Amino acid sequence: MEIKVKTCVHSADKISSNATVKINSSILKAKSTKWDCPDNIAYPPFINNHEHLIGNWVPRAGENHPYITTDIWVEEMKKSESFIERNKVFTHNGSFDLTRGNANLLALLGVYKNIFSGCPVVQDHAPNQKDEYYANFPIEVIKDYKQCHSLSMGNWWGGKSAQEEWQDSKGKMPFILHLAEGKDKLAKSDFRKLEESGLLQPNTLIIHGIALTAGEIKKCAQKGVSICCCPDSNVFLIGKTIDLKACIKYGVNLVLGTDSTMSGSINMLAEIKFAANKYTFLSSKELYRMITENAQKALFLPESYGKLELNTSHLMLVNNIKDDPFENILNMETKDIELLIHRGIPIYGNKQFLDDFDINPEDYFFFKIGNENKFVIGHPEKVCAKIDAMLGYHKDFPYLPF
Ligand SMILES: [Zn+2]
Repeated sequence: MEIKVKTCVHSADKISSNATVKINSSILKAKSTKWDCPDNIAYPPFINNHEHLIGNWVPRAGENHPYITTDIWVEEMKKSESFIERNKVFTHNGSFDLTRGNANLLALLGVYKNIFSGCPVVQDHAPNQKDEYYANFPIEVIKDYKQCHSLSMGNWWGGKSAQEEWQDSKGKMPFILHLAEGKDKLAKSDFRKLEESGLLQPNTLIIHGIALTAGEIKKCAQKGVSICCCPDSNVFLIGKTIDLKACIKYGVNLVLGTDSTMSGSINMLAEIKFAANKYTFLSSKELYRMITENAQKALFLPESYGKLELNTSHLMLVNNIKDDPFENILNMETKDIELLIHRGIPIYGNKQFLDDFDINPEDYFFFKIGNENKFVIGHPEKVCAKIDAMLGYHKDFPYLPF
């Protein structure tokens, strides 16, 4: 399968015109097809650095936002109508085993939120789950990581202590924790605690870091620590993000996440639009870097992720709305993704592309956006039907395009 595109974004610093991308896939039909797509831009698929897959219910919870610290929101959120409605599908019994009950239905909602915004690679911040949890998804939900919920609340949801988790990481996989998620004294003391506990390490991925000072951000950059910002969620919950200007100034490895829709934006496409509108000093190219190459580094992903070679198993084809490919991602919507391939498997896109693959049509769901026939891997419509049956009425999720 060869696809000739108008523009090919290999990396933030390397772009080529009228390039032909060759797809590597073990399920391509023998007869190779050549596609001419002069209205498309080719990118590597995006990577979502921070997500809580089972938390993608709507509407957002938090009547009294913004808060001084997220810990207050967590308690308030648990009493929200949205959370209570979601609990009709799945309730924690304290174990946080997401292979239990209907947790998988909720996680699949989160998976489709990510697919329809070009993210077939997702970091799902939760205690490490049994292998079957990760094996159940049609996309890559990263399995190799260690975590702590936060230093302020500890690993209340499961897992060992922060120090033990880091030791288990052996420095070879990301160690992920919410940090300094607020503007009170406790949030401001988080960084010092992290440093004193020996947890300021090159494989540490700090989520949010809102209360970090410029000096602390500089230390992160020097140490090779990665920081994930979830702008919409941060502004909604706390009224501000980390000092992004300091992050850029000191060259910290900055990445972007959506958080769940209980606090954040609808999906990654909404997130990058929000960030670009609110933080005009962040260039579209910088935002692109945050969801591709910086993410590959922060999450210890294979070298082939987050960049696009002319011979590839990972591809996202997007309509050319703006000629500048980085401005283009700020204007694209779910319908503009014409093809999304991860590890050689077609995940989502325009139906005609599927003809090149030796697939079982029963493994896909077909639907229309406007006049365009689309396919998506798996059966999100069945997930929705099951949830509707449990609720006793129809529930809409704004990130689903059907
Ligand atoms: Zn989070």
